[in-house]
Amino acid sequence: MSTASKKINPPKVGVVSLGCPKALVDSERIMTRLRAEGYVFSPTHEDADVVLVNTCGFIDSAREESLTAIGDAMAENGKVIVTGCLGAEPEKIRERHPNVLAITGPHKYEEVLAAVHEAVPPVHEPFIDLVPEQGLKLTPRHYAYLKISEGCNNRCTFCIIPKLRGDLVSRPIHHVMTEAQQLAKAGVKEILIISQDTSAYGVDVKYAEYPWQGKKRKTKFYDMCEALGELGIWVRLHYVYPYPHVDEAIHLMAEGKILPYLDIPLQHASPNVLKAMKRPAAQEKTLERIKKWRDICPELTIRSTFIVGFPGETKEDFEFLLNWLDEAQLDRVGCFKYENVENATSRDLPNHVPEDVKQERYERFMEKQQVISAARLQLKIGKTLNVLIDEIDEDGMTGRSYADAPEIDGNVFLNVTDGVKVGDIVKARIIDADEYDLWGTTEI
Ligand code: SF4
Repeated sequence: MSTASKKINPPKVGVVSLGCPKALVDSERIMTRLRAEGYVFSPTHEDADVVLVNTCGFIDSAREESLTAIGDAMAENGKVIVTGCLGAEPEKIRERHPNVLAITGPHKYEEVLAAVHEAVPPVHEPFIDLVPEQGLKLTPRHYAYLKISEGCNNRCTFCIIPKLRGDLVSRPIHHVMTEAQQLAKAGVKEILIISQDTSAYGVDVKYAEYPWQGKKRKTKFYDMCEALGELGIWVRLHYVYPYPHVDEAIHLMAEGKILPYLDIPLQHASPNVLKAMKRPAAQEKTLERIKKWRDICPELTIRSTFIVGFPGETKEDFEFLLNWLDEAQLDRVGCFKYENVENATSRDLPNHVPEDVKQERYERFMEKQQVISAARLQLKIGKTLNVLIDEIDEDGMTGRSYADAPEIDGNVFLNVTDGVKVGDIVKARIIDADEYDLWGTTEI
C-alpha cells in the first residue's frame, strides 16, 4: 500500500467566534484542544464537517447577530453546534433554529468537545506536538488576549453576565504567568489582560500565593502586574475598576514596566445613576483618583465606556455626566444607549427614558467627547512614540502606540519603511491627528 493511500483526511470544523475578547479566548481554547486531537479548521461553512458558533448574549443586538450567524451556518452546512453566552438560553436558540446539533453554555469546553466528537469523531489519537506551545490564537501573532478569570461577583443591574457566567473564578497567578511567558516566548509583543473585573483578580481565592521566578506571588492584581512587567513586552490592562489598590499599578506604569493605559468601564458619573446601576467602585472619588494617577504617570491614557438613557437618568444626571467629562478629560470613550436586555434587573426600574431622548443624549455625549479626544490627540503632535506595526500594504504601515488598544482605539498611520515587518516596534514622530487617529513618520 502506498503512503498516499494511507492518508486520512482530518475532520474539518468551521468556527464562528462572536462577541467580546473573553469569548475570543474561549474560542482559542476550544480550537487549541480540537487541533490537539487532529481536527483542522475550515475557512468556509460549506467545506466543514461541522460548524461551531461561539455566541454572544450581552445585548439584544449581539443576540440577534448570534442567531443570524447560527442561521447562516445552518443554511450553508446544516450541522451546527452552539456555545457561548447565548448558549445559556437554549430555548431562545431552539425557537429559531430547532435543528442545531447541540447547545452548551459559556466555558463548557468539555461539553463542546464531546458534541464535536459526536458529530465528527476524531480520526486518530491526539498528538500534542501539532499544537504550538502557546496554543492557537485567533489574533495576529504579535498580540494576544490573556484571560485571568471567569465570571463576576458584581451585580450591575443592566448586566446579565453573572447570570450567564457565574461568580468570579480567578486563575492561579502561576497559571496566568506560565501562559504569559509562553506567549512572550512565541513572539507575542503585546498581551491584553481581560476579565470581567480585573482589579478584583484573586478575591475569590483569598489572594492565594504561589512561587513564580524564585519569588512568592499572590493571585492579586498588583502582583500580577508586577510579574507581567518583568516579561519585557507590552502589557495592557482592560476592565479595571478604580479601587484604591489600582494606584500601586500606576507606579509600575510610570516606571515603564506595563503600558500607561487603563480601560475603566465607568458607565456613568452621576451618583444617582451609578447607584441605580449598582456599579462597583461607585462610591470612589473617581475624578480625584484620575488626577492622582496623572500626577504619578502624566502620560497615562484612560479609556472608558458609558451608558446614556439608563432608567431614571434625569436631565440633571445627564448634565452632570457632560460636566464630568469636561473635568475628567478622558482620552478614549465609547458610548451606548441603554438597552433593555432580557432578564436584566434594570428592566424593572421605574422611569425608563424614551428612545428619542436617549438618541439626543447619545449625540450630545459623543459631540462633547469628540472635542476632548481630538484635543488630547493634538497634544501628541511633535512627540516621538513607539508604534507596534499591525499591518503593512503599498499605501503605508498601520500601527498602534501605547495609547491604542487593538480594535477599539485609534491607529497610527506611517509611511512604508524598508526592513520593517508586522509585529515590529518602530519609533515614529507624530505629525498630525484627528479625533481618533494619528499620522507620523518613522525615525529609524
Ligand atoms: S462588573 Fe458589572 S457590568 Fe461588568 S460583568 Fe460584572 S456585573 Fe456585568
